[in-house]
Amino acid sequence: MAATPAPAATEPDVLIQMSGVNKWYGEFHVLRDINLAVERGEKVVICGPSGSGKSTLIRCLNRLEEHQKGSIIVDKIELTNDVKNIDAIRREVGMVFQQFNLFPHLTVLENLTLAPIWVRKIPKKEAEETAMYFLSRVKIPEQAGKYPGQLSGGQQQRVAIARSLCMKPKILLFDEPTSALDPEMIKEVLDVMIELAREGITMICVTHEMGFARTVANRVIFMDRGQIVEQNEPEEFFKNPKSDRTKLFLSQIL
Ligand code: ADP
Ligand code: MG
Repeated sequence: MAATPAPAATEPDVLIQMSGVNKWYGEFHVLRDINLAVERGEKVVICGPSGSGKSTLIRCLNRLEEHQKGSIIVDKIELTNDVKNIDAIRREVGMVFQQFNLFPHLTVLENLTLAPIWVRKIPKKEAEETAMYFLSRVKIPEQAGKYPGQLSGGQQQRVAIARSLCMKPKILLFDEPTSALDPEMIKEVLDVMIELAREGITMICVTHEMGFARTVANRVIFMDRGQIVEQNEPEEFFKNPKSDRTKLFLSQIL
């Protein structure tokens, strides 16, 4: 009797596949043989010393940086120089930066509707309704008419998160989203991120907020000198770090 093929449902639903990815800034070898597969719905936290390549790695995922060797495939689309592919991938990948990167001369509502209206060609009224929905989700609908400079850092970062969500991404990348915030504002941003994580969006977050990692991550990755040194589920990662570099890093931040 012929062997029955394995049912498709048991195959992992890989949304991001980085294989043998290398990148240089001039002579400087910043990413070394990165192999990373992220399945749909995963919450991955990346940590590691400053300068280890964390930002570069996630910026390669939406082509804010270009890799020189290896392959990056996002939802079955390979990231090449083909602008069509780059556009297609950028539609699926939202990014939240440390410095918020809001447009200072636009109101909060205009910040949220700009790309949906001009890039996605969504009617203004519909874009505004979506924007108000996500502003409510990040708990600041009353700030819609203000300018970024009139908001606290924590509020600005929540606007930045809402702005990403308005593009309905499949994957959200966060690059140290709370590092520029005063301590009393960190929790309001992390609480929003925890809620999002629970809804099932695929998330990769560079952060040193290890409480966040324990709460939402299913996997913690430690990077050093351009390499993924080790990765594990949070409990094991924190309890039993394997490499000396990870142990040293954790002893410095915990
Ligand atoms: P991390 O986010 O882990 O702090 P980065 O990815 O920002 O690390 O940077 C990794 C290394 O690459 C650092 O040594 C940094 O100085 C260097 N680097 C980052 N961006 C550039 C660039 N545009 N040109 C040259 N070197 C860069
Ligand atoms: Mg960085």
